[in-house]
Amino acid sequence: MSQFWKPGSEKPRLLDDEEGGVLFYSASASSSSGFGYSNIEKQRQRLPVYKYRTAILYLVETHATTIIVGETGSGKTTQIPQYLKEAGWADGGRVIACTQPRRLAVQAVASRVAEEMGVKLGEEVGYTIRFEDLSKTGVTMVKFLTDGVLLREMMDDPLLTKYSVIMVDEAHERSLSTDILLGLLKKIQRRRPELRLIISSATIEAKSMSTFFQTRKRRGLEGEESGPRTDPAILSVEGRGFNVQIHHIEEPVPDYLQAAVSTVLSIHEQEPMGDILVFLTGENDIDAAVQLLNEEAQNNGKHSSGLVVLPLYSGLSRADQDLVFSPTPRGKRKVVISTNIAETSLTLEGIVYVVDSGFSKQRFYNPISDIENLVVAPISKASARQRAGRAGRVRPGKCYRLYTEEYFVNEMSAHAIPEMQRSNLVSCVIQLKALGIDNILGFDWPASPSPEAMIRALEVLYSLGVLDDDAKLTSPLGFQVAEIPLDPMISKTILSSNQLGCSEEIITIAAILSVQSIWVSARGAQRELDEAKMRFAAAEGDHVTYLSVYKGFIQSGKSSQWCYKNFINYHAMKKVIEIREQLRRIAQRLGIVLKSCERDMEVVRKAVTAGFFANACCLEAHSQGGMYKTIRSAQEVYIHPSSVLFRVNPKWIIYNSLVSTDRQYMRNVISIDPSWLMEAAPHFYRQQRNPIAS
Ligand code: ADP
Ligand code: MG
Repeated sequence: MSQFWKPGSEKPRLLDDEEGGVLFYSASASSSSGFGYSNIEKQRQRLPVYKYRTAILYLVETHATTIIVGETGSGKTTQIPQYLKEAGWADGGRVIACTQPRRLAVQAVASRVAEEMGVKLGEEVGYTIRFEDLSKTGVTMVKFLTDGVLLREMMDDPLLTKYSVIMVDEAHERSLSTDILLGLLKKIQRRRPELRLIISSATIEAKSMSTFFQTRKRRGLEGEESGPRTDPAILSVEGRGFNVQIHHIEEPVPDYLQAAVSTVLSIHEQEPMGDILVFLTGENDIDAAVQLLNEEAQNNGKHSSGLVVLPLYSGLSRADQDLVFSPTPRGKRKVVISTNIAETSLTLEGIVYVVDSGFSKQRFYNPISDIENLVVAPISKASARQRAGRAGRVRPGKCYRLYTEEYFVNEMSAHAIPEMQRSNLVSCVIQLKALGIDNILGFDWPASPSPEAMIRALEVLYSLGVLDDDAKLTSPLGFQVAEIPLDPMISKTILSSNQLGCSEEIITIAAILSVQSIWVSARGAQRELDEAKMRFAAAEGDHVTYLSVYKGFIQSGKSSQWCYKNFINYHAMKKVIEIREQLRRIAQRLGIVLKSCERDMEVVRKAVTAGFFANACCLEAHSQGGMYKTIRSAQEVYIHPSSVLFRVNPKWIIYNSLVSTDRQYMRNVISIDPSWLMEAAPHFYRQQRNPIAS
């Protein structure tokens, strides 16, 4: 346990040391569940933003754009929309919007605000995330939504006329959708001077945001203007806070997961009570850590008795989310193992210790190979500080970094690169096109995307038949693809299934590909999970396998028992049913005939090819280890072990997505006939005919 961590020789550091200035983290009241209204009122007044209530309302009244910077937990997200509502910004049927980059944050924050306002979620306070709308037109006054959903709403209402104030929250994350949204909102502002924007974030180069929203006034109009000032206001909310001692490890650790688990155990052994928040990267390593800690509790009770171990990631069910937010039972210590969602989006009460792996899952895109990956990559210094700050909310805390101080100082980058500059831009381009923005390269971006990535996106959309020679959306295909709230490749697959007569099957597949995973994690029983998968496995690949799972689930009467027995995630399957229902409605609206192909899986595979031809791969003839090469850029890729085609290795396949760990792994794979590629995308494969003909 101590090979990486020497409690005796630790060099405690205060956050001030590394910052060159004192950092404060806000402290506030504890969880409210079960307390009365007045208690909630008191808690609200204790939050740091409360002191700024009047200032915020004044700035919003008088400025088109207000930038608010405040530490996580100071009350920006939960309070400001309420202040706006109290001040009348939702009167006369208008709506206050607050966007978040993450779905789970939208749900959690909306439900908290509904609770604080004493209303039922979905009425005065509602939320909308993709495939889930808990808001009522004419009733909902404060609406939380993902920035992606607000972008979609612009397709029906380009000026977002129903909103009086739009608060773009968590702007420091610089998610792809946030940046697109900021660019578009700046345009809308010119047409709707009465609209107010609030840009809020935990840390932001407020200056650069301010410069971005600085609009030059047209000469001649200045004297007559009666509207709000166009230069943005900047307000900084001071938090009250406690010091956080930072501990770095002495030597780099070979395995951050193991290191995180033993650090939790040594904190539990040696440190006074207080909850622990552990930052790992994703569902897999989080579930593994939960399991290791639970095993520890069973085998070696004395180290771990009294630990309540809970995961926190976006695929979590509502019940599991509630557990994370509920108060820790007396005499117990809660350990929440989280993705970076707990870094700034959500505030957990009672955290005193933070264990920071130094990693998170990040999107990276290489426009040359046109490959986008979710990669476990080192976080930035800014993230590391945010994570540490989570320990200082209720009292002085400690942060254990599973990386060396030298690494922090010399190797970590200061800030993360905006997602715009490391993403595949296909969805972004199609959305802007659908909004009638044709000069995409000349668009006013908060951070310009790389021209290569832009050109790649245009190429892919052109090859999908979504854009024409003038880079305009084609009719009807381009407009239809833009209408479906999915990746354009899946949307195209759905549209192609219409002629192929397999829309029912493809819609099922699209719904399943929209949830994280329909399998439960192995629960330490990898063999049983593999056997369960084998019961459904189809020789054609994962997509067809999913069809059998779906069929089995329906035949079982949507039984949770059946799911449990088959290692299938019941919660995910229920979600699939909901998404499927919505996709059917969208398909009908687009004039797609809902039809089943019964047992003819060839048409299903052809439909997938029609959308995903760009992801075709061929098995390397003489490779031993199942190595494939992508057709378009000859990248080395392998079938992911979770795929039913792992070790089967058919010659020609198409993948849905790539994940990269030690290798590039293809997830969700289906076998195809190479002749279909030429059928699906002749212009795309014309220059590359040779590999297919061989
Ligand atoms: P910010 O957006 O500035 O990070 P929030 O508005 O999200 O801050 O949170 C303000 C405070 O509200 C938190 O410090 C916490 O005490 C409380 N809070 C937020 N969400 C919840 C929740 N789901 N359960 C209990 N308390 C919460
Ligand atoms: Mg917030």
